[in-house]
Amino acid sequence: MRGTVLYGPRDVRFEERAFPKIMKPTDAIVRISAACVCGSDLWPYRGIQPIEQPTPMGHEYCGIVEEVGKDVRTIKAGQFVVGSFATSDNTCAICKHGYQSSCVQREFMSAAQAPFLRVPLADGTLVSTSDMPSKDLIPSLLTLSDVMGTGWFAADAANVKPGSTVGVVGDGAVGLLGVLSAKQMGAERIIAMSRHSTRQKLAREFGATDIVTERGEQGIARIKELTKGIGADSVLECVGTQESMMQAISSTRPGGYVGFVGVPHGVSLDLGQFFYTHVHLHGGPAPVRRYLPELIKLVLDGKINPGKVFDLTLPLDQVAEGYRAMDERRAIKALLHPNGTK
Ligand SMILES: [Zn+2]
Repeated sequence: MRGTVLYGPRDVRFEERAFPKIMKPTDAIVRISAACVCGSDLWPYRGIQPIEQPTPMGHEYCGIVEEVGKDVRTIKAGQFVVGSFATSDNTCAICKHGYQSSCVQREFMSAAQAPFLRVPLADGTLVSTSDMPSKDLIPSLLTLSDVMGTGWFAADAANVKPGSTVGVVGDGAVGLLGVLSAKQMGAERIIAMSRHSTRQKLAREFGATDIVTERGEQGIARIKELTKGIGADSVLECVGTQESMMQAISSTRPGGYVGFVGVPHGVSLDLGQFFYTHVHLHGGPAPVRRYLPELIKLVLDGKINPGKVFDLTLPLDQVAEGYRAMDERRAIKALLHPNGTK
């Protein structure tokens, strides 16, 4: 089969790779229905996070189970499954506390931009649907694997409750789905920070009530203005830069919460200053596995449609164009169809 491999900055290749096989008895092989390019794939793509060797790419996936190892109990061949970008046994103490993305047996997935994928710890990582979902639901189900699960975690970590006032820093796919998550959790006011008209439009569709185009000190001042001078109850930080983190913390009211899910790159925090903010800070790689059953149900029941975040669909063999389009911000998020590729 052919799969996606990153060789270095801006060098994405779709090339011959070994067909994945069961290596441990707890593995499953999944035939990918759809995969996509993640905002976090752009860090190594841009050379900001250097890679040491050619690296198979992709960690967002859903599809049909092709084969399972002999110790796999609940997942069966023929089932439609969605899995997390991080593997988990879903039985250790950390998993039981709901932090499956820090499971003692965690591995980060990377090779999903391909027609077939090996998934370790299949029983603890994958969640199956009871029926085969209709094709039009595949994009939304795919988002649950990471981007939507991460937006949801950002809102959950930021303690979004019915009636909350929420700020969202970042208008990438995670930020936009953070808006959708906050709406679903009952937020009354959702202030999205964005300068791009197509993203503002989608943010509004997902439930944003206000758009702030200013950044830095002016952005903070604007959010304060919209929140009676005190700041938002909850702020979702969905970028991972020094500026976005400071934006998030400074836009939160004393006693409020920042949920941060943008992978920090060169961010440092002056705890001496932070001490006086009274802001709760919680984040990390989203424990997507915890949310999968609930989010799958919301998608299947037609309550949420996070798949709208895909504004570019490509056959898998054109994956390099997906990276380019997202890098140049011509696309919010690229969906990849393996149809016809082996
Ligand atoms: Zn675990």
